[in-house]
Amino acid sequence: MSSLPAPERSRYALDACFLGPYGENDALLEKLVVEFLRDHVYWRRNFHPEDPPAIPTHAQHDPGYQDFEARLRRELHQLSAALKKSVPFHSPRYMGHMVSDLLIPGLAAQILTLPYNPNNVSEDAAPVTVDLEVQVGLQLARMLGYPHDPVQPDCAFGHLTSGGTLANYQALRLALALKAFPVALRAAGVPDIALPDDDWTAFNLAPSAGIDLLDRWQAWLAAQPVAAHRHWHAQVEAQRLEHLGIADFFTTHTQLKVPQVLAPITAHYSWSKGLKLLGLGRKQLQLLPERGMRLDLDALQDTLETCERTRQPVLLAVAVLGTTEYGTIDPVDGVVDARDRFAARGLGFGVHVDGAWGGYLATLFRNEDGSLRSRDEVGAGFNMFPSTEVHAAFGALGRTDSVTVDPHKLGYLPYGSGAFICRDHRATALLGEAADYVFHDATPANYLARYRNLGQFIPEGSKPGATAAAAYVTHKVLPLHHDGFGRLQAQTVVAAEAFDTRARQFAGEVASLCRVLVPFTPDSNLVCLALNPTGNRDLGSANAFVRRLHDELRSDPRQPIQSREFFGSVTTLRPEALGDTEMQRILLALEIDPATLGGDNDDRLVILRHTLMNPYLLDRENGISYIDRYFDYLARRMLALLA
Ligand SMILES: *Cc1c(COP(=O)(O)O)cnc(C)c1O
Repeated sequence: MSSLPAPERSRYALDACFLGPYGENDALLEKLVVEFLRDHVYWRRNFHPEDPPAIPTHAQHDPGYQDFEARLRRELHQLSAALKKSVPFHSPRYMGHMVSDLLIPGLAAQILTLPYNPNNVSEDAAPVTVDLEVQVGLQLARMLGYPHDPVQPDCAFGHLTSGGTLANYQALRLALALKAFPVALRAAGVPDIALPDDDWTAFNLAPSAGIDLLDRWQAWLAAQPVAAHRHWHAQVEAQRLEHLGIADFFTTHTQLKVPQVLAPITAHYSWSKGLKLLGLGRKQLQLLPERGMRLDLDALQDTLETCERTRQPVLLAVAVLGTTEYGTIDPVDGVVDARDRFAARGLGFGVHVDGAWGGYLATLFRNEDGSLRSRDEVGAGFNMFPSTEVHAAFGALGRTDSVTVDPHKLGYLPYGSGAFICRDHRATALLGEAADYVFHDATPANYLARYRNLGQFIPEGSKPGATAAAAYVTHKVLPLHHDGFGRLQAQTVVAAEAFDTRARQFAGEVASLCRVLVPFTPDSNLVCLALNPTGNRDLGSANAFVRRLHDELRSDPRQPIQSREFFGSVTTLRPEALGDTEMQRILLALEIDPATLGGDNDDRLVILRHTLMNPYLLDRENGISYIDRYFDYLARRMLALLA
């Protein structure tokens, strides 16, 4: 691998970022952990130094104390020994799921914060970290191209969640609140404000029009004398969906149907979970087909036209930025265009981007000053990335209504750290558990004050402030633009392109043994491999072969992890997701008889899936490519299995 360019020098030196596959940066992490643990202890002592120590110094000589410590040590030793069976996420031999080494800035900040135990439910329990969480929301908003200055009345807002699943749920909850609110205003008969003419119109405003109406209502209410204020506030609250519940709301408004969520068939199963949590069902989740592994915009158009014709409201259209299974990027630009076209026709709905996986790739598209980089600028240093479609998708993020990003995936931070960000924070007034009409004069101070009561707005209650500290510090040390965090993201794309190139070469080398195919050109940093032993025409046998390969590519708690050379994962290609044409193309390229597709267990093609996010896949220090080594390993395994 002497052809690899020498690492560039930058103030964002990636060498200091991670503990490293070999624990190379152990001294750095240890120094930080010890230093800040001591710092914490001094803080305790300096609270009221006049208070004498409550635990006597001689207690440690007590047999009970010693017995306790001995039992504690024993349990910790056992735990530590058991954890040696953990999956070696840190290793460049790990290309399985969406996880890798952890960033030292995040790990150190999280460990530092843990003993202070802040609870980000509100500022009472987290005077420092709740502000950091709101700042993280603004950092991510800037990365996405949302308004991020709290002086702007329509500034974005974001918060952390336990993961992408809950962030997606928050998107549903906010979209439903905003959709139903204008209907409540009409039902309450609020005077003096221009209201939509009928329930259908009220329920189908564009999100921006809904927020505008909410704004006007709040201004009107704020100007009322106390008694009228109380009266109208109560009237409207009584008509809100959040008061009535879904069942009563739709029996009250008989012309309205329960709204649907439109998502690509490749959408994560958190969408189905989220709908159920909301009191809707899977029936309200319309899965749209893909074309060329991306959401099919013609199918979206057709579906929206049907919705318009049958008066079927749409809650959200979801675009996925980096699908969990294939890393593909939906045409976000086309989805927001469709939103604007249909809003003009009276079928308003929001657009949410599920960027749990690919959200941080947006750093590659941002200059330091926050402006968008051209496709040529982004593409310098890559073979193919980003395609015109991918560049357009990222460029359109700022026009969407909300986004999910997972810091615990491509943000290289510890679990559980997901994030929800909405483009215009004013909508969150509808999420508040208590009436929240305090933010009329938009100033940074007010914005912060409002969200210091974070528990009002989020699905969770108590939640770790340490996670917010980790994300905040990481985003400060590695800012969310191409020359900061983007350098890390760039490595994942370089690795994926190297993997793709090697795979195509490999396919030629092993052709006499096995048909090998990269089933579609990767959009980002996940690369899949389809395989079929040469001469085999049966889909079931091809699947069995891939499953046997995968058996040696995953952790087995009965065996030491050292018995594994590499880690990968599997996924499947289904005709429902790909469309028949694509499915046929792939089967024919593999020389599998398409007629063998369709049995009970063989209704899909099993393929290997590789997540290429480890920063050391291409080890420049030693001139080792773990990608080359993986393909050597694969050749050996294939030979052994086919012998
Ligand atoms: C991982 C993922 C989720 C779910 O996120 P969790 O953090 O696992 O809850 C949702 N959507 C996509 C696209 C994902 O990749």
